[in-house]
Amino acid sequence: MSNANPYALLFEPIQIGPVTARNRFYQVPHCTGLGHVRPRADAAVRGMKAEGGWAVVSNQETEIHPTSDLSPFAEGRLWDGRDIPALRLMTDAVHAHGALAAIQLVHNGNHAQNLLTRAPVLAPSEMSVDTTHPKQAQAMDKADIREFRRWHRDAALRAKDAGFDIIYVYAGHNMTLAHHFMLPHMNQRCDEYGGSLENRVRLTRELLEDTHEAVGDSCAVAFRFAIDEVIGADGMQASEEGRAVVELLSDLPDLWDVNVADWSNDSATTRFQPEDGYQNAFLSHVKQITRKPVVGVGRLTSPDMMLSMVKKGIVDLIGAARPSIADPFIPNKIEEGRVDEIRECIGCNICVSSDNLGIPIRCTQNPTMGEEWRRGWHPEIIAPKTSEANTLVIGGGPAGLECAMQLARRGYQVTLAEASSELGGRVAKECGLPGLSAWSRVKDYRVNDLKQRGNVQLFTDSRLDGEQVAELGIEHVFVATGSRWRSDGMGRSTQRHLPTIASGAEVLTPDDIMNGKLPFGGPVVIYDDDHIYLAGVIAEKLATAGYSVVFVTPDSLVSAYAVHTLEQPRIQARLIELGVDIRCNQVLAAVEGDMARIRCAFTGRDAEIPCASTVLVTERQRETALYDSLRGSGLKTLELIGDAASPGLIVDAVFAGHRAARNFERPKAEAEKDWFRRETIDLAEESL
Ligand code: ADP
Ligand code: SF4
Repeated sequence: MSNANPYALLFEPIQIGPVTARNRFYQVPHCTGLGHVRPRADAAVRGMKAEGGWAVVSNQETEIHPTSDLSPFAEGRLWDGRDIPALRLMTDAVHAHGALAAIQLVHNGNHAQNLLTRAPVLAPSEMSVDTTHPKQAQAMDKADIREFRRWHRDAALRAKDAGFDIIYVYAGHNMTLAHHFMLPHMNQRCDEYGGSLENRVRLTRELLEDTHEAVGDSCAVAFRFAIDEVIGADGMQASEEGRAVVELLSDLPDLWDVNVADWSNDSATTRFQPEDGYQNAFLSHVKQITRKPVVGVGRLTSPDMMLSMVKKGIVDLIGAARPSIADPFIPNKIEEGRVDEIRECIGCNICVSSDNLGIPIRCTQNPTMGEEWRRGWHPEIIAPKTSEANTLVIGGGPAGLECAMQLARRGYQVTLAEASSELGGRVAKECGLPGLSAWSRVKDYRVNDLKQRGNVQLFTDSRLDGEQVAELGIEHVFVATGSRWRSDGMGRSTQRHLPTIASGAEVLTPDDIMNGKLPFGGPVVIYDDDHIYLAGVIAEKLATAGYSVVFVTPDSLVSAYAVHTLEQPRIQARLIELGVDIRCNQVLAAVEGDMARIRCAFTGRDAEIPCASTVLVTERQRETALYDSLRGSGLKTLELIGDAASPGLIVDAVFAGHRAARNFERPKAEAEKDWFRRETIDLAEESL
């Protein structure tokens, strides 16, 4: 590349033990919900990163033994030689694009419930498994530790056979046996593996030595280490024991991959950790202690931030999981001077939620993520147009913007009409709520792209009706008119009995709040039958504005779905800190004058609470009037997409817009079976 590129430093090769990374871009291990269950799809995800320029592409935590069985989650698996061919799919895909392949070997200790294998759970000391599953771990004796070391060593040899170049020892996220041995609250042993820090680190040291001895001739040995638990003096701290661990192990690994624990701190959302590079403060001294290369993460999407981290000596390699999911082509875009084309991660953790739900990975910003193999989608390539057709997209929310952008990339003439004065739809509104400003990247990236294209016309303040559509004379129409929040209280919990709402009672919806309307006074009852993020964010907004807020939900948690995005405890804590009165397990029965009646979800017993104003966050109604009026009007294409077709998350709307654009003018037989390839079980395997 030309030295004129201001980011040339990021493209220097880096030696990692016996292997060389072609540049400083390092995709650290991350889950995909694909793993051993869908290895072809997983290999395609990883191959795409290599194609996008990442020098190192890691897989995800990979179980080394049946006593570390994470079922039903789809992580990596390398219990024995039968798992090698599936992993070789990945190493081949990564090598095909000149990158190094890394594998994150893991034994999850008491984090593994062993539901599939029904094996005993192992831990440094006697303790329960770390979920609410009714099972306890047994303390490992010396023979168990010897066995564990043998499993790890054998797995490293199998990983080498599978073609991996970098093999991890993993002590992080409070989820691995090596980490559990290090942490005093999990290790109450009195032998040489417990007590002093040196003793607690002994097992990790042995794993690093064993791995070097087994595969170090040709593979690098990486060490992924959570240097801080981000709970202050109650846990490991980067400035105290975290630092001491780096000093103790110093040059033993070929590479330090340093982050923070637990996963919710490592993969912090922008709502709770707005700054990119938020882990730098924990990392900064590691390079002063070890001579080995250091990789660090922190939702790094800005090339300037990356450059400054290398220049300041914080890291040698730029680590990324989520930024590489949102845009697998970040390195190539930086190298080719296309920085403004980077599709930045918004820190929403929908990708994380996929893993927690045991489903294939998806990403709000990158609708092709997880679809590389099963649908054959490429984030940077889309089939060119097959005709000179003109297209009209109605609605400029995430679905409409994505659909318009992809149609334009295909070369079609695109007209996009948006009713309001601003593009972005729900994103333009939601990004004005507390903590969600980074979500505007969903609109910014797409609007920026659309504005640069000569084949696109963008119209705001243009609410179209059927007649106007006919006047435009465009025969291919995509209707992305979205949805609006209901004001009658209909929701999951109220299908049989709608709450009665007294005439004159002030009832607001999220749309009202996002349009700038505020309750006339408190207490404000926020009724959350949606359970995702919006009710919690609105509660935060109103409580911060000084309202007395009562949060009522039929669930036993505030924003229960946010468990999957790792935010739920933070959301509930924030509302408690703001003085919000939280009433869980309560269904809204009535809004009456100056009070609301709530009903216990279990006993049906009623209680009355003071209520001057109510915000209902329950369900949405699809905006289909325009679509309905256009049906039967002879248009060649009429397709309803996004929230107007099926209200859901932003990720769903972006995906729907993308799919519609890909399928446009696709041969009918193909488009009709838009369904995807499935990875089926090879029955021959059962005879092994
Ligand atoms: P989605 O998530 O499916 O993209 P949104 O609700 O975010 O849905 O966006 C829908 C957009 O469609 C909104 O910005 C809304 O103003 C716009 N819209 C709704 N009806 C019309 C219409 N008849 N003409 C033009 N734009 C419309
Ligand atoms: Fe980032 Fe959200 Fe995509 Fe995950 S789903 S990579 S957090 S934009």
